[in-house]
Amino acid sequence: MFGKNGITSEPVVNEPVAEEPVVEPVEEPKPEPVEKKPYEGVNFHVLLDNGHASSTPGKRMKLENGRVFYEYEFNRDIVRRIARKLDTLGIPYEILVPEVDKDIALSERAARANSFCSKYGTGNCFFISVHSNAFGDGINFTDAKGWSVWTTVGNTKSDGCATTLFEVADSILPKFGMTTRKQMSDGDPDYEENFTVIYKTWCPAVLTENMFFTNKKEVMWLMTDEGREVIAHIHVEGIKRIIDERK
Ligand SMILES: [Zn+2]
Repeated sequence: MFGKNGITSEPVVNEPVAEEPVVEPVEEPKPEPVEKKPYEGVNFHVLLDNGHASSTPGKRMKLENGRVFYEYEFNRDIVRRIARKLDTLGIPYEILVPEVDKDIALSERAARANSFCSKYGTGNCFFISVHSNAFGDGINFTDAKGWSVWTTVGNTKSDGCATTLFEVADSILPKFGMTTRKQMSDGDPDYEENFTVIYKTWCPAVLTENMFFTNKKEVMWLMTDEGREVIAHIHVEGIKRIIDERK
């Protein structure tokens, strides 16, 4: 060791050692409590199908304000909103059709659903196809109105799920000046038709017709954030009830 002018500096002897400062023990900061999602760990997989694609002819309505309602866009937006709500609840789901431009065939949609039925167990899956209804020539508004839910013909597990969804819709929509429509001929409120997408799906499957986009009042509501949030909320409340009922 050399000092400033190159002379070895004298070793310092007995230099007083500074006392170690007393360090107060610092507690490890506790991690923020993670709020448990209410349905976390539930073995129930919602399979979300969004009808049509941007390339599907028709399935649109020109509004008086110059805007156009496209059913494919509405269906995808509703599915996205449902997915976001399911995320916060911890309910697992799959979006079956990420494609926007290509209209995936109905049997392919069902096949995608069935691959998840194989993976998770048919009894643990629930398929919902999201649509909006139409009536008339697609140019002029018509009076047909109301929210409806569809299952295949005959009594299956899907009917119970459809009834639950219907009851939720029926309890919520009137608050927004909207209505439901039902077909009680077989004792429950769903409409029945062997639509390929629900007919070929192995698990309980329903198709929702979310109001009529050919009805002036309804389509204007479906173009609003409020309308879309309510429609998504109905699906999620229905799903929650269906899960609660199987516990
Ligand atoms: Zn449709």
